[in-house]
Amino acid sequence: MKKPVSIELARRVKNLPPYLFAAIDKMKQEAVGKGVDLIDLSIGDPDIPTPKHIVQRMKKAVENPAHHRYPSYEGLISFRQAVAAWYKRRFRVSLDPKTEVLSLIGSKEGIGHIPLAFINPGDVVLVPSPGYPVYPVATLFAGGKSHILPLTEKNGFLPDLKAVPKDVLRKAKLMFINYPNNPTSATAGKDFYRDVVEFAAKNDIIVCHDAAYSEIYYDNKKPLSFLQIPGAKDVGIEFHSLSKTYNMTGWRIGFAAGNARVLSGLGKIKTNLDSGIFQAVQEAGIEALNTKDSVLKKIRDTYQERRDILYSGLKGLGFELEKPKASFYLWTKTPKGFTSSDFVSHVLNNAGVLITPGNGFGAPGEGYVRFALTVPAKRIREAVARIRKII
Ligand SMILES: *Cc1c(COP(=O)(O)O)cnc(C)c1O
Repeated sequence: MKKPVSIELARRVKNLPPYLFAAIDKMKQEAVGKGVDLIDLSIGDPDIPTPKHIVQRMKKAVENPAHHRYPSYEGLISFRQAVAAWYKRRFRVSLDPKTEVLSLIGSKEGIGHIPLAFINPGDVVLVPSPGYPVYPVATLFAGGKSHILPLTEKNGFLPDLKAVPKDVLRKAKLMFINYPNNPTSATAGKDFYRDVVEFAAKNDIIVCHDAAYSEIYYDNKKPLSFLQIPGAKDVGIEFHSLSKTYNMTGWRIGFAAGNARVLSGLGKIKTNLDSGIFQAVQEAGIEALNTKDSVLKKIRDTYQERRDILYSGLKGLGFELEKPKASFYLWTKTPKGFTSSDFVSHVLNNAGVLITPGNGFGAPGEGYVRFALTVPAKRIREAVARIRKII
């Protein structure tokens, strides 16, 4: 027998932070194995199906042989035009579909790849925490260093840009921000985005705003686009996803919009690594972007009902939390004496309810847990009733 090759992971993989959610997955499997009627409030994945008109368009598009070939790298021009038209309608922002819109295989793909286009080893990326784990991991894969921007209650879960040390600013080339925010559900206003534009211009930092939840909002208070701020297009781009807005997480389609040079840099990485989005999915994406507001309102109303039930339920149990203005998450402090992990285990083992520990999104999330509104209202009521019995 020949000697087997030594299969050694690259340092970038060995250096990945411990995947905290793996432990939860294991606990979840155990609970399900024991026959627990689990209420899973840990998933950021809509339980509502994709609207019918989008599915219908997909069915037709699949039959078209023109779509069976390699798609264009930067996306169908008709899809990018639909994006530009949507931006105009929704945010009153004008975009050149040829140079200021780039199609993505889900926004995670673009977020994951963008540091490869701009970060050299040793460069710094400003990364909000708690936050979407892809920001620091993408930075690590590109050889960059994350500098954490802690999101704390004191600052309304907005980063304190003035607190970034000068020597960090000198090495910082790119920053991520994300509003409406996952996991804290915080939203950002004009003043914050203005500060970001000024900060980025002054310090030569590319801004990447992750707007995955821009359309999941409540009480008819529409979140802003970063690109609505004067000067924003000079400093950065915005990532959007069709996943959360149109219940299309499985379809893998999103886009980035904004600064043409930044998008062209990201496009260079993509042309070398992927071959674009299945054109039938892009056609369905056009249909999605033209969805009637009444359809979207129904989806928002569904989440709003769930939010109201869970918010008042948790408040009634003495939890400390803000009522979310957007996103489908509730971010709440753990009861006294519980770390994030302790509380998640307690609730899973004694109430059969699965939630996400805040520290899984980064150390500043310790002492919090995240509830997702991705199960029907009836189950949310049941979850509150079960938690009532154990705290
Ligand atoms: C869900 C999510 C995304 C990614 O969505 P895609 O399905 O890849 O488009 C990006 N950012 C945040 C904060 C998310 O929660």
